Amino acid sequence: MKIAVFAGDGIGPEVTAEAVRVLHALDLPGLELIDGLVGAAAWRATGHPLPSETIAIAKASDAILFGAVGDFDCDHLERHLRPEQAILGLRRELGLFANLRPAKTIPALVGHSALRPEIASSIDLLIVRELNGDVYFGEKGMRTTPAGLRQGYDVMAYDESEVRRIAHVAFRAARARGGRLCSVDKANVLETSQLWRDVMIEVSADYPDIALEHMYVDNAAMQLVKDPGKFDVVVTGNLFGDILSDQASMCVGSIGLLASASLDANDKGLYEPIHGSAPDIAGKGIANPLATILSAAMMLRYSLGQAAAADRIEAAVDAALASGLRSGDLGGSATTRQMGDAVLEALAAQ
Ligand code: ATP
Ligand code: MG
Repeated sequence: MKIAVFAGDGIGPEVTAEAVRVLHALDLPGLELIDGLVGAAAWRATGHPLPSETIAIAKASDAILFGAVGDFDCDHLERHLRPEQAILGLRRELGLFANLRPAKTIPALVGHSALRPEIASSIDLLIVRELNGDVYFGEKGMRTTPAGLRQGYDVMAYDESEVRRIAHVAFRAARARGGRLCSVDKANVLETSQLWRDVMIEVSADYPDIALEHMYVDNAAMQLVKDPGKFDVVVTGNLFGDILSDQASMCVGSIGLLASASLDANDKGLYEPIHGSAPDIAGKGIANPLATILSAAMMLRYSLGQAAAADRIEAAVDAALASGLRSGDLGGSATTRQMGDAVLEALAAQ
């Protein structure tokens, strides 16, 4: 098991160090960790945010654990040299087209949710977002209308192969959870959504054990705050998924707690916390490392076939939080290291 560790910028190295301690503590046979440079850290050392050596390490690994990229110092750089290009470049180089974001109630933190406790305590869902298509990648530009007005445009486009491959990822994820699938679109007004819906139905024939339902995105946004417990796996396009996955995170609690995966067609993937490099608190040792530790758990589950080890990490995180320890984002004063220590102690006590 070769894991590339790209800690990156800001709080990235601090939170990644705790996840690495947790991985070592599991004593997994054949575990090999290889460090690589990304983001501003890579730009300072090599003049590029995603050096070719880093890409080579990523390609030679079974999975990638990614911290965060981004730095105040890089705002003046040309676009292709900015730290954010590291994550975009890795997605492109590795063909990572499926973004998975679980959102699950953490019992000790129900009070931190934006929702009422009785609603927040029932969340256990997984959003599968398509990452390589949609308005972000369609033809775009600025033009002038015949009336002389400036007009911006972004074309929303999906071809059926793009929808089919994300459909398979979502159905497989639903099957792995023994669950159901809800496909979210806007098929009443968008052609892309009509195609999306048709292909979802077509692919569902391969998964007779998985119930498929369809929901319009406006209704899904409403149901997510009204009754999030009704969702299991949700599959949706790039734009809708961007919005719904942030919404789902706030239903659970702090930004410092949520993990994500970006997968290719063979379930090789890049795993990262959903938060950014948080330059405002970088270097202070106060960032919450749990989202990165939970990203390592997701990596074991989805790319490395180590579900039991993933369960152990998740249980240890629950136990650490149940003990009452809280970092700053959760209203406490525990340090990054203390949060990591608590997870290690909980692991040892299992
Ligand atoms: P990006 O563009 O990289 O997503 P962002 O501008 O969305 O970055 P984040 O870096 O995610 O911002 O940070 C948003 C806020 O949340 C900041 O105030 C930051 O300090 C806080 N924050 C983010 N991650 C953590 C964490 N792990 N622990 C504590 N606070 C955090
Ligand atoms: Mg952000």
